[in-house]
Amino acid sequence: MDMLVILKPTATDGDRDGVVRRIADLGLASHVSKSEYRTVVSATGPCGPELKDQLEQLAGVDNVLVVSLPYRLASREFHEAATILDIRGVRVGGAHVNVIAGPCAIEDREMLHDVGLTVQRAGATILRGGAFKPRTSPYSFQGRGLEGLKWLREVGDELGMPTITEVMDPRDVDAVAQYADIFQIGARNMQNFNLLLEVGRTDKPVFIKRGPAASITELLMSAEYVLSEGNHRVMICERGIRTFGAESRYTLDLSAIPLIQERSHLPVFADPSHAAGKRDLVPSLALAAVAAGAAGVIVEVHPRPDRALCDGPQAMLPRSFSALMDQIRAIAQVVGRRLWEVRPTETATPTG
Ligand code: PEP
Ligand code: MN
Repeated sequence: MDMLVILKPTATDGDRDGVVRRIADLGLASHVSKSEYRTVVSATGPCGPELKDQLEQLAGVDNVLVVSLPYRLASREFHEAATILDIRGVRVGGAHVNVIAGPCAIEDREMLHDVGLTVQRAGATILRGGAFKPRTSPYSFQGRGLEGLKWLREVGDELGMPTITEVMDPRDVDAVAQYADIFQIGARNMQNFNLLLEVGRTDKPVFIKRGPAASITELLMSAEYVLSEGNHRVMICERGIRTFGAESRYTLDLSAIPLIQERSHLPVFADPSHAAGKRDLVPSLALAAVAAGAAGVIVEVHPRPDRALCDGPQAMLPRSFSALMDQIRAIAQVVGRRLWEVRPTETATPTG
């Protein structure tokens, strides 16, 4: 049985060292996870419930949780209430629904600005755009790299929208942190543990996409890697898993949304674009995900999908995206949630 020793916010380094020493004396392994608010020391090994009382007596200890799941900091056992993130004034999680939208890849500055403005007017709150693209072929467009990141920063600032972009390499974490507001961990990198540890050492929100062959437990263990380094600003994204048949690119696992929410306090998004691979399927999947209780969706939008450098067939046209936003607004209300709305150039306020 494993335990989580949660220290009081006022605990000193000496208190923490005392807990670590005691755990070592008991013959158990410890791991210290320090976030901006709290320090949590986990104890792993053969320990019985009687140790809970002992550890609870130590100086600086708030309480001790006995945990049964492999993920701890990601679990509802550790944190019962839904986690709500504040990302530059945009509230994510809880009763709020947010739509992240933008092109698959940042192609040029002007196009990013146009798409950003269009999706923002339709009600999207976070701008997406890839600068480093994980492509199946080494000969395909790989993204604009650093130049793309700079455009993302400029456009995000001009529109007052937080931005998300994929980081593929631990060596790029500093650069991406400088230019974007949210790290996207792509499906192919969900189990790149060094990358997860590296973003876990920053204080920027991390959006982890499910690997197409990963179980829900494996996905939550990836979140645990980030949390264990002290970064508690984590979001999860279901983006379709590998099943069979070629009619859609992947199969959106809708049941993952309520399942993850039952087990974890972290906000769960869905990506209907990569799951579908075809723009006509995107609205149905997006609505189904919101109806299933998702914290939001991430949708690819492009003004000229036939000319897109990446993922054109699944990109929604701006006009249909606006129509989808109206439907999302309505569905969110049916399930007791509401879209977080930010009016351009105003400070963030929720509206019905
Ligand atoms: C993307 O968001 O453009 C992307 C590559 O997604 P995924 O990692 O889910 O395939
Ligand atoms: Mn894409």
